[in-house]
Amino acid sequence: MPIIKNPELKAKYFFIFFEKNLLLTCDTELLTENDFIKIQKSVSHSQIYLDTDTDSIFTEIYNTNDIENYKAIQIRESFCIFSREQTIAIARSKALINWLNQMQFCPSCATKLQLSPKLSCLCCSKCNKEYFPRIEPAIIVLVHKNNQILLARHKMRNQDIYTCIAGFVEAGETLEQAVHREVKEETGLTIKNVTYKGSQAWPFPDQLMLAFYADYKEGEIHIQKDELTEARWFDKDKLPNIPSQGSVAHNLIFNKF
Ligand SMILES: [Zn+2]
Repeated sequence: MPIIKNPELKAKYFFIFFEKNLLLTCDTELLTENDFIKIQKSVSHSQIYLDTDTDSIFTEIYNTNDIENYKAIQIRESFCIFSREQTIAIARSKALINWLNQMQFCPSCATKLQLSPKLSCLCCSKCNKEYFPRIEPAIIVLVHKNNQILLARHKMRNQDIYTCIAGFVEAGETLEQAVHREVKEETGLTIKNVTYKGSQAWPFPDQLMLAFYADYKEGEIHIQKDELTEARWFDKDKLPNIPSQGSVAHNLIFNKF
């Protein structure tokens, strides 16, 4: 089903994104058509699109200075406030706007791309290639050892938060190989019993997070110092600061998949 540019403003859902945030009413409700029109008139915004698959109209704004009576919450937080259908529509709209903003020209011949009238893709009128939204698979794994779990602090982001080991799947790799490789690279440990738990779209900008459990097999912790500042075992009933609700790591740690 196609994505439509400058649509008539009729849809089930209306989303306005600001960086990694979603705009909501003060009562933490999704925007209505009237809210959308009002906000969009008062601030500069990017193109407006309709995703016909989820019946969602969405755009992105560049600042929230002139907006009163609305609030921005982190998109990841919205995942634990709204229903599954709403969450899918939010994640898809955010992933699409990231992709549409980035994908302006044909990578083969540099012609300006156009939205397909039939499919949710961009088409090149010169070389007839079709480009579908990009999804980057990434794995995230919680390693268990008896009653303890392995958590790590990252060097670059959220330095006071301990989270699971994660990383992108490399070309030619299976998901299981990526899980073994990431744990080995980042902590020096080998693991066994890799078990798939679930997945979540993670549109920051275009990841699909695939979540796993694994058991410790052998080795001592030697962290990859470019990536981590610390990795250690925690008792499940004495957890440090961990990622907030709605995140994939939180769902893994509390077995919510
Ligand atoms: Zn082309």
